[in-house]
Amino acid sequence: MNILSIGGSDPSSGAGIQSDIRVFTTLGVYTLTAVTAITSQNTSKFGVVEPVSSSMLKKQLESIFSDFKIDGIKIGMVYNSMIIKVIYQQLKKLKIPIVVDPVIKSTTGGNLIEKSAKKDFQKYIIPLATIITPNRSEAEWITKMKISTKNTPEAVAKEIQKMGAKNVIITGIEEKVNLVSDFVLEKNSKYTISGKKISNINHGSGCNHSAAVIYSLVNNKSIKQSLFFAKKFTFNSIKNAKKIGKGIVITDIQSENRVEDKLSSSITEFTKIRGIYKNIPECQTNFVFSKQNPKSTKDVLGISGRIVKAGKKVIVAGELKYGGSKHVATALLAVNKKYPQICSAINLKYQNTTLTKIKKCKLKVSSYDRNKEPRKIKNQGSTIKWGINSAIRDSKIIPDVVFHKGDYGKEPMIIVFGKTPENVLEKISKIAG
Ligand code: PLP
Repeated sequence: MNILSIGGSDPSSGAGIQSDIRVFTTLGVYTLTAVTAITSQNTSKFGVVEPVSSSMLKKQLESIFSDFKIDGIKIGMVYNSMIIKVIYQQLKKLKIPIVVDPVIKSTTGGNLIEKSAKKDFQKYIIPLATIITPNRSEAEWITKMKISTKNTPEAVAKEIQKMGAKNVIITGIEEKVNLVSDFVLEKNSKYTISGKKISNINHGSGCNHSAAVIYSLVNNKSIKQSLFFAKKFTFNSIKNAKKIGKGIVITDIQSENRVEDKLSSSITEFTKIRGIYKNIPECQTNFVFSKQNPKSTKDVLGISGRIVKAGKKVIVAGELKYGGSKHVATALLAVNKKYPQICSAINLKYQNTTLTKIKKCKLKVSSYDRNKEPRKIKNQGSTIKWGINSAIRDSKIIPDVVFHKGDYGKEPMIIVFGKTPENVLEKISKIAG
């Protein structure tokens, strides 16, 4: 997968091209870049802008298009009319998703587009957009309309749609104490996306949002799914923002988003394994991934519903949530306590055929006997913790699989463990389906 980021260079790497490279690389996508302007800025102060010449931009784009297959494009800072026209000429015939992030002013106060370029931005850049992602003030700048009860977000979004953008999201439309909502006009239908608000002044969140949208679109997600993904991704990047320079914090895309994205794509891969429905137990399946050094199930990401069997298909019922899994998360915590590198697990239906495959491909297996469970433990409801501990207590090898053969009225179960969801998936592909 290759995504092209067209935008400005930010030496602090908090925004612009450098930030996009960080986001796409974190998400496992190759990033190509075309620099429109070089800025001097840091986390306290915006310095100067030096746009590249139109021929230089044209040459960058030509060298990319003549060599690479591009799956999607993000357009950020465009700065002046000459740059805008080159972008339009090079992109107008493309039939791939394009996300336009109208970049007007930096949080530190720098002008990121010349006033005289506004008309050409409206005429040439907006029509390229599969989705355009202005925040409230950018939407007002584009339309010259102040959002109010008279000029509703819908009216403003419709005005932007009239300029040629296929879909519009205006972020930060309504801010309450703990909540921030975005307004979406997806073709003719409208909806809002609300999420928790974090009040920090940061560098990079707008760039992260539009980058996450294009990433999700090129991964064949719907517009709605992509916007929800971007909302969560941006929230996490703000929550984990770090004070790297002396001024405002820089958003962090590494830690938490990585956990969510890795688990989410592994769950999708899992559901695609041929015949995987045969491995879903009566109590259904959960797939979990924990933060580093998890203290409780609240530090373990899992599906708030489960992966369920529907005929010969499996479907994911529910969404990813910390604390979303109780049983599989508890099993993982027990293994993680002894082997901190093990951060992911899944439960599968117990079958002799699966066990034979596990042994054949030499995965490390431990087991426990629920019949031997002390009554006190049973009464306390801490069976899983006890079971996993008794299975791994005497072993010095990290287990790939722990199973038990059930008890009166209790379904037997196989749990596969690994360092990451991909690692778990690798093991599953050898033994399931
Ligand atoms: N600098 C460049 C090159 C950008 O592209 C952007 C935003 O897209 C910014 C600065 C502004 O970033 P922020 O408002 O998050 O500081």
